This record gives sequence, C-alpha cells and structure tokens, in this order.
Amino acid sequence: MQTLTSNWEVSALVRQWQRDGERIGFVPTMGNLHEGHLRLVKAARQNTDRVVVSIYVNPMQFGPREDFTNYPRTLESDLQKLTNLKVDLVFHPSDESMYPEGSAKSSYVEVSTQLTEGLEGAHRQHHFRGVATVVTKLFNIVSPDVAVFGEKDYQQLLVIQQLVKDLNYPIEIIGEPTIREGDGLALSSRNQYLSKQQRAIAPKLYDVLSETRERILMQNMDLTDLEQAAIMQLEQHGFAPDYVAIRNAVTLAEADNPTDLLVILAAARLGQTRLIDNLRV
Ligand code: AMP
Repeated sequence: MQTLTSNWEVSALVRQWQRDGERIGFVPTMGNLHEGHLRLVKAARQNTDRVVVSIYVNPMQFGPREDFTNYPRTLESDLQKLTNLKVDLVFHPSDESMYPEGSAKSSYVEVSTQLTEGLEGAHRQHHFRGVATVVTKLFNIVSPDVAVFGEKDYQQLLVIQQLVKDLNYPIEIIGEPTIREGDGLALSSRNQYLSKQQRAIAPKLYDVLSETRERILMQNMDLTDLEQAAIMQLEQHGFAPDYVAIRNAVTLAEADNPTDLLVILAAARLGQTRLIDNLRV
C-alpha cells in the first residue's frame, strides 16, 4: 500500500493504472476508521481493480462552532486497517495543498438547493458546500471510475449523486447500508465523544426511528404527527433533537403520501455530541 500526500503524485499513479486498463474505486473519508468505513472499502474492492482511500478532515465542511479541531485523527491505526484490507493507495493531503489560500478563500461548489437547504443544510450552514467542494476536488485528483459512500449520511449521498449528474462526472456512485453496533447505534467517529451514560441512551435514536417506521407501515397516523411524536420521545430519553423528518427517499421533499418511498431522517444532540441517523421505509 502506498501513502501519498501530493495531488500530482496521486493523479499520475492513478492515470498510470487507468492506462493499464484498470478500474479505480475510491472511498473518501475523514479517517478515524471504523467498520462502517471498512465496508465501503470492501465494496470498492468488489467492484474495481484498484482501491484508493482518502483521509482528510475537510475544514470547509465544519461550521465555526463545530468539532474540526477536536475531530479524532488516528492516522497510524487507520493505515494499519487499510493495509490489512489490501488498499492500493491512501491519499492523505495537507490543508495547504487542498486549500492553498485557506478554505474560506477557495472557490466552491454548491449543489442544487432543493437537496441541500433542508435538514442537515438548515442546521449546518454551508456544510454541503464544503462537502461538495472537497468531493469535487478529490474526484478531479483521483478520477475514479466508482466512488463509495455510506447511507449513514443519507442526505450527503443524494447530494453527491446530484453533483455527479449535474457536473457530468463519469463516476458510478455506490451507496452502502449503515453499519450498526449490536444495540442499533450507527457506527460513527463521534460516538467516542459520548460519556458512558450518554452511550447507554444513544441507541434510543435508532429505536425511535424503528418505531416510527412501524407506525408508518401501519398507516394509522399522519406523518407530521409521527414526526412530532418521535421528537417528543427523543426529548423524553434526554436528547435535544434538531429534527425528525419523514421525507421522499429520492428527492427529500416533504412526503405527502405514505405510499411514497420514504426515509426517516433524524439529528439529535446528547450533550455536546450531535448524532445523525436515518431509516428507509
Ligand atoms: P466520514 O469519515 O465520517 O466522512 O465518513 C466517510 C464515509 O463513511 C461516508 O461515506 C459515510 O457515510 C460513511 N460512513 C460513516 N459511518 C458509517 C456507517 N456506520 N456505516 C456505513 N457507512 C458509514
């Protein structure tokens, strides 16, 4: 496995592989890798000849009061895990090479507001601008044939699919299901911020989503009432919810018909830690 920090070296190596007729799979991450990330790597491996993983904590996608500085950075153990999975190349760029003028002064990519203005976009100003910009830069550097993202960040997955479509990237986007702990808590690098007590409460987020799904399937309640009921349940468990939203799973538009393909999305804080999760119906 090679580890490179230079954009040019990554581009040159990948283009050499492509000249040799090999298909390139790409998994962008912010590091602190867990089994959720590793599943994406395995999916990339199944679909391609060479696998590239990027590890980069992207400053542009963090708000001023978010955890950019404290975000867990564990390069050595990440590299060990990726070596074990026989990844071909890890791209670990510096902030200076990604944003030579600083991320605040960089050009940026804004994906259609229909997908980006609600939910996470409403609670994390400019978050998707940061995501779309860094993914665009990474796609330009790596030029993959396939890129794999997690359904854990459901809105992000749809934003990336829209980006690829709107900007005509010849890249196939694969979405992989969310990997969970035994008690239902979605794996996340942010789970380690939780105290023991908060960790015991955290799986209730998945329980509430699951219960809401059951109620949708029973078709005996208005969707807005179900959202309100879920928010109240989360509050009773000790969460401070940002939102629980039942949306059209393809467009994220408000769902007016329970027979649509639906997704339930939620974000809620436990103390300082913000958890997100979703469940398709
Ligand atoms: P991150 O390092 O948090 O930016 O995540 C990198 C990729 O891993 C994104 O595509 C995430 O959606 C995905 N991911 C994070 N957690 C999980 C999980 N529990 N299951 C599946 N994919 C995940």
